Formats: sequence, C-alpha cells, structure tokens
Amino acid sequence: MNTFKTLAVCLVATASITACKNKPAAEKPAVDSSKIVATKPVPGTPIKYDSSKRYIFLTWDDSPQPPGTTNCRNVFHQEGVKATFFAVGFNQVGPFKKRLIDSIRAGYPEVLLANHSYSHGFNDKYSKFYNTPDSAYNDFMRNEKELNIGVKIIRLPGNNTWASNGKIHGQKADNPLIKRLDNTGYKIIGWDIEWGQQAKMKAPRESVDEMIRNIGQKFDDGSTNEANMIVILSHDRLFEKTQYADSLRKFIQVLKKDPRNVFETIDHYPSVQNK
Ligand SMILES: [Zn+2]
Repeated sequence: MNTFKTLAVCLVATASITACKNKPAAEKPAVDSSKIVATKPVPGTPIKYDSSKRYIFLTWDDSPQPPGTTNCRNVFHQEGVKATFFAVGFNQVGPFKKRLIDSIRAGYPEVLLANHSYSHGFNDKYSKFYNTPDSAYNDFMRNEKELNIGVKIIRLPGNNTWASNGKIHGQKADNPLIKRLDNTGYKIIGWDIEWGQQAKMKAPRESVDEMIRNIGQKFDDGSTNEANMIVILSHDRLFEKTQYADSLRKFIQVLKKDPRNVFETIDHYPSVQNK
C-alpha cells in the first residue's frame, strides 16, 4: 500500500486511533482528510464577475420534453456551454423522463435543474394559479420535492417577474405568491429576451441571425435587467427537430466567437448570488 492510500485508510477508518501500524505515532498525517474525498461543485457557490465580460444565461423551460430536452442537453454539452433547465414535475412521466431529469440534476456545473412549478400553473390556467397563492406556493414545493431540486430558484409559469431579497418587479410584482416565495428565500428569475415559438409549431420563431442581432443590441443599449448580463428564455421542445437543434448549435457557435461572452448557470446571476 502506498503512503497516500495508507494515510487515507488511516484517516477515514480510524478517527480515534492516532497512528497507523506502519507509521510512528508522533508523525502528523501529511494528507488532510478533506482532500481525500473528491469534491463536486455545489450549486449556488458565488463566482466573481469580470467587468470586461458579457454573461449569457441560457434558461430553457418546461423540461423534460424529449427529444427536445435531450437535443438541447447534447448541444450544450458538445459546445461546452452552461445552461439552466426550469423543469415541470407534471412532464416527468415514465422512467425515461425521470432519468433525463436525474441526469440534468447530476450534470452540474454544466447544467442546473431549477423550479418551474409542478403543474405549469395548473395546466396553463394562470389566472386561477395566481389567484390562489397558497395552492400555487404548494405546487412549487411539490415540484421541488418530487424532482429533488437543490436550489431555491424559480421561474414563474407564463410570467416575467423578478424577485430577490424583497426587491420585486415585473408583471406579478403585487401578487401574494411572489411575496411569499421571496419571504421564504426563493429567487424568482424573469428573462431579458425570449427565443420564441412559432404559432402552433414546435419551431423557433426568430432566426439565429435575428437572435444574435437582438442580443447584441440589448447588451449595447444596456436594456437588460443587469448590465452586462442577459437572461435568454426558450423552450426545449422548439429544438426537437434536427434542423432546429442545428439552429441552436449555430446560435451558440456564433455567440462563442465573441471573446467577451461567458455562459453561466442561473445560480450565478447577481440577484441569486446576493444573500
Ligand atoms: Zn413554461
């Protein structure tokens, strides 16, 4: 057994014994036990921002919706960019979709699993959802539990509102649901720009060129929620056809050509990092 292994066994297995058999008792271990166990990054650990960079937060909603979710996940992985999936427990039907959610949860720091409500706002019945805040709150809690979501980050279904530490703005700023979520430490994330959906089609509405132009303009005119940060909303299902998955790849490749652009998961957005 080499020295490292000897020390590891000694430290892990025999906390009450001061030395291993083949080591003198007085000698202190050269290896700290905390370094023996491999550490995995924990979602929510703050990062430091570089003011010369532009931060891009890809936030894709309504997962799991394969094959769109699978395609997006593959493109993000192959292109080496980070992204966030806001998931809906209601869509997690059957073992394949469950495994997909499990793999997103396990995929951090590359991808982050976050909360988009269990029922997608009572199956898109938004007025009922927002008018019954206690039930809606419980719907988010059910989603967190059933999908085992490890971060307190929420996107409201069908609604662009932001909340963090008592600072609330957006369409539902006065809604008691948002106040309760904020009071209980949840961060609500809206969006700066949407890559929308064509009417009645699972296809992206804007071309890649249009999206790149619109994003550049928003950065340049400073019209994002936070300077030098952009939260992009889209939906997994738009990219289920190969031609649209290819559009997503091209979109990311064009963004990657600008050395200022950095892709991050939404736990690293300023309003989430601020405790
Ligand atoms: Zn949604």
